Amino acid sequence: MPRNQRFDVLFEPVQIGPVTAPNRFYQVPHASGMTNALPHVRARFRGVKAEGGWGVVCTGAVSIHPSSDDSPLPFAMLWDDKDIAAHALMTEEVHRHGALAGVELWHGGACTLNRTSRIAPISPSGMPWLSTHLGFMGNLKPRSMDATDLRDLVKWQAAGARRAMQAGFDIVYVYAGMGYLPYEFLLPEYNHRTDAYGGSIENRVRLVRELLEATRDAVGHKCAVALRISLEELRGRPGRNAPSEAHEVITLLADAPDLFDVKMDSSPTDCAPSRFAPEASHEPVIDFVKKLTEKPVVGVGRFTSPDVMVSQIKRGILDLIGGARPSIADPFLPRKIAEGREHEIRECIGCNICISSWHDGVPVRCTQNPTAGEEWRSNWHPEVFAPPASDSSILVVGGGPAGLDCAVTLARRGYAVTLADAAGEFGGRLRFERRLPGLAAWGRVVDWRLGQLRERANVNLYPGSELAPDDVLGLEHRHVVIATGARWTKMQFSTLEFPVGELDGPGVYTPDDIAAGVVPPGPVIVFDFDNYYLAGVIAEHLGRLSSEVAYVTTAGNASAWTYMTNELPLVHRALGKAGVPIHTLQRVAGFDGECVTLADVYSGAEKRLACRSLIVVGIRKPNDSLYHALAARPKDLDRAGIAGLSRIGDCFAPGAIVHAVHGGHRFAREFEAKAGEAPYTRDYPV
Ligand code: ADP
Ligand code: SF4
Repeated sequence: MPRNQRFDVLFEPVQIGPVTAPNRFYQVPHASGMTNALPHVRARFRGVKAEGGWGVVCTGAVSIHPSSDDSPLPFAMLWDDKDIAAHALMTEEVHRHGALAGVELWHGGACTLNRTSRIAPISPSGMPWLSTHLGFMGNLKPRSMDATDLRDLVKWQAAGARRAMQAGFDIVYVYAGMGYLPYEFLLPEYNHRTDAYGGSIENRVRLVRELLEATRDAVGHKCAVALRISLEELRGRPGRNAPSEAHEVITLLADAPDLFDVKMDSSPTDCAPSRFAPEASHEPVIDFVKKLTEKPVVGVGRFTSPDVMVSQIKRGILDLIGGARPSIADPFLPRKIAEGREHEIRECIGCNICISSWHDGVPVRCTQNPTAGEEWRSNWHPEVFAPPASDSSILVVGGGPAGLDCAVTLARRGYAVTLADAAGEFGGRLRFERRLPGLAAWGRVVDWRLGQLRERANVNLYPGSELAPDDVLGLEHRHVVIATGARWTKMQFSTLEFPVGELDGPGVYTPDDIAAGVVPPGPVIVFDFDNYYLAGVIAEHLGRLSSEVAYVTTAGNASAWTYMTNELPLVHRALGKAGVPIHTLQRVAGFDGECVTLADVYSGAEKRLACRSLIVVGIRKPNDSLYHALAARPKDLDRAGIAGLSRIGDCFAPGAIVHAVHGGHRFAREFEAKAGEAPYTRDYPV
């Protein structure tokens, strides 16, 4: 299909110093969990985005010196010449598709605790980075940099830039954001210096300017020099001669880099979850930058709508549309717009599972795009599928995230697929969850897959079809895949973190009851030891409807695992706003229909709270009775011509939506394919 002319502006080339971006789609630096030990995984992950039309594709943070050692978090490095070859693999892949390759050179300063290198962390004035995130906490405090340290830092940046150029990068960054070293110099709370690098705003930007100049000297006219800078905190501080210190910093540096890459300061605001922030949420902080510089400006905001992108350009907010998560969720987003297929964009849902992978220390995973991180090691291309190995037809029972992805991937391979679900609409757990506060965008998991399925002639969709074993046997499909999900149990939790049996009886509910429309009489207590989002969001939902809702957890925070997805501080704020009190480190020791007895998980001290409805959000069990009923009848399966019976998603192993999608996808990719001995190809350092 021809491209919609409305979007032509997105495909204009943009001059960035000595290099030219072929279009305005710019994959900004983002964490991928792919270290120099995974060079082929990393190269293909980035290369596929170039193939998908991103005009610029950058690395994640690349350390310039062992004094910037983020371990155990995964990070890349250009510490010496031996690191060049690993990065050259990536620039080759990116250049093969006509895109520019950018590298985010990085020194973490007081943020990095150098757990492996054991070098004392460096900082402007010996102030530690005050982290509330467990993964970033440590006991080694930084030392103050002296004049030699400052000269060394500039030399390391220059050496990193030269190596980056040798590796084939076109855009080389100075990174002054997110708490890292040059950013620490910008803020007086971290910079108490009385020399030429502290005090006035002119002095505080001096180091950033020197790093930019050293980078330019190192790369000459071969590469562009980019400045990545966080502006949220500075924008909130009145300037002496300008509305804010952010205005002053940009004015002082207006001509220094070839490109400004502007962003927020903390992970929860920068990589804001969709539950709490809309698309383009950075605009109020970064909207002034283009007015103060002639240089091109790139920024992010979970942009997935081409109309919003065009508006950012036409209104003079940005020159280049930055994408991190949207480029993970759909590496082919630009190509789809270019080919008039924008309705096919698989939009990021803003769940931040990708960030959680970095916190977990593993290569990136994505709820929407199960091929992310698997491009090289599993040979999964996001848009290319192996043809069918036979004319088998497949029945998928259950149209939740697992069944939907399995069906759509089998259909894209060319198999004849029938998808049935007991409910009147597809979506599984998301039928309910997408209606909860802030989770509407998560419905994109269902909408994209259903959209794809409805367009295909080799697909039959049967909503409203609850299938019993005899129904399945009578349907004459060659393979049957059971994706019937999981159910929440009323299992309880002991102080030793043992599951200690179910607490049943009147007034005890699970999320499945709330999903089925039960309105629990108050006072309501939501008891959480699942620790991901669901208990918190149900408490928020019920708390908005009634003043008699409290949230109880065995963990130290509400929705404790969401610190992995940047949501945790915002969950606390949301519960506070909904008037829901939070009781942490408590387990339910008893419930008599009038009161619940809570016991402190450490001391055992008990307290009682009025409660008529107790919603237990803890453990899930597979809905696998259909699977087992069929598996117990091998002769009947044989007679019905069913050669294979499988189960996927929550029906196999209950997990988050990302696991269900991946499980469904994996089944479809591997179906009738020649199985290797290893589950994936192992990568090795070069
Ligand atoms: P997953 O996350 O693994 O995809 P979900 O719980 O989200 O699992 O979805 C499972 C889906 O399976 C639900 O939509 C449910 O209605 C459907 N389902 C469960 N049992 C049957 C059945 N016997 N016949 C048809 N559909 C079923
Ligand atoms: Fe978007 Fe979630 Fe995928 Fe991250 S994991 S790119 S937030 S859909």
